[in-house]
Amino acid sequence: QTPNDEDAQNENIRCLTTLGHFGFECLPYQLVNRSIQQGFFFNILCVGETGIGKTTLINTLFNTNLKDNKSSHFYSNVGLKVKSYELHETNVQLKLTVVKTVGYGDQINKEASYQPVVDYLDAQFEAYLQEELKIKRSIFEYHDSRIHACLYFISPTGHSLKSLDLLTMKNIDSKVNIIPLIAKADTISKSDLQKFKNRIMSELTNSGIRIYQFPSDDETTTHVNPSTNGLLPFAVVGSMDEVKVGKRIVRGRHYPWGVLQVENENHCDFVKLRDMLLCTNMEDLKEHTHFHHYECYRCRKLQNLGFTDVGPDNQPVSFQELYETKRQEFQDQCQWEEEELKQKFMQRVKEKETSFKDAEKELQDKFEHLKKVQQEEIMKLEEDRRQLEEEITNFYKMKTASEPGPTQAPSTKKDR
Ligand code: GDP
Repeated sequence: QTPNDEDAQNENIRCLTTLGHFGFECLPYQLVNRSIQQGFFFNILCVGETGIGKTTLINTLFNTNLKDNKSSHFYSNVGLKVKSYELHETNVQLKLTVVKTVGYGDQINKEASYQPVVDYLDAQFEAYLQEELKIKRSIFEYHDSRIHACLYFISPTGHSLKSLDLLTMKNIDSKVNIIPLIAKADTISKSDLQKFKNRIMSELTNSGIRIYQFPSDDETTTHVNPSTNGLLPFAVVGSMDEVKVGKRIVRGRHYPWGVLQVENENHCDFVKLRDMLLCTNMEDLKEHTHFHHYECYRCRKLQNLGFTDVGPDNQPVSFQELYETKRQEFQDQCQWEEEELKQKFMQRVKEKETSFKDAEKELQDKFEHLKKVQQEEIMKLEEDRRQLEEEITNFYKMKTASEPGPTQAPSTKKDR
């Protein structure tokens, strides 16, 4: 064959384009289809004072009216309101759980304000751990209630964080992904806002509070996340009102001096928050919750129960060995406690016995004493009786002796 023949042959080869995917390149599609069938779930915790705009922001984020009653300022303590919703967007189903604080910031006792939040986060981890430790576990169907993101609403004071904000965030930063938000950011001017943001960030850093950082090592999000981290805390505005701006209807807040458009990036960071939370980083938030926060909780909990991965000799310890050691320890402990209880019981029995014996001896002594006293009394009476009889006898003797004759004696006796 000459090169010319080869070219002629190549020109005759038919090239077919593939109609679909084949081979393992289809794997991602399997995952996508399965996830869509199963649906997604996401759990958000909103922490902030009553009336700071939590409900409005959640409604604005999910573009729906998640009906909820207004909270009162007069709760005697802080509580958490948990509500779940089934949301749909095209063919994607999302089970959303929103947990909101009630009465937060209305209390004088700061400790009592953050403790219910800490307890709630721990309780969700504990429930998951209990499910995981079951022999017949159903992790697949299990309703995972662990919180994936905590939206922390900061008051738009323009000054600094309140001590309650710092206390709460400090106590929950190892348990949940905190995303700080400046609430009602339309009440603060643009120049004040930037200063406020800087102050908040430096206060958080100085207090050693770790907030969630949008990942910058993921190549799908690396172009947006680093710059977005620089926008934290997000200055947000919530509103479900539709306002006419020119020819467009937008969601915003209408003021005498103009309209604040919620979805206008020049007006506030709402769009950035929505993109970061729902479009770009929802999976990362869930992964971070599972692989970091839950893992820390699980590790702490199992260590407290005495489990360990390596022994004192730095050698791996098998679970069975550990279990056997623990069981032995437990049995020894039970035996020791039983022995101690027995000894305590014997000791008390002995003490009681001694006290009964003492009481008996005392009674006996009393009895002996009384008996002796009685005998002495009897003897004394006997003595008195004997003396009396002697006296009577002497008396008669004297009387007889003093009488004139034996014949007169009977009549004298009769006269008497
Ligand atoms: P929650 O108690 O934290 O859930 O607060 P709500 O969402 O019920 O909001 C309380 C009040 O604040 C309502 O009258 C809202 O219209 C108003 N509000 C909510 N978000 C904003 C906001 O971004 N800016 C302003 N100016 N008001 C807001």
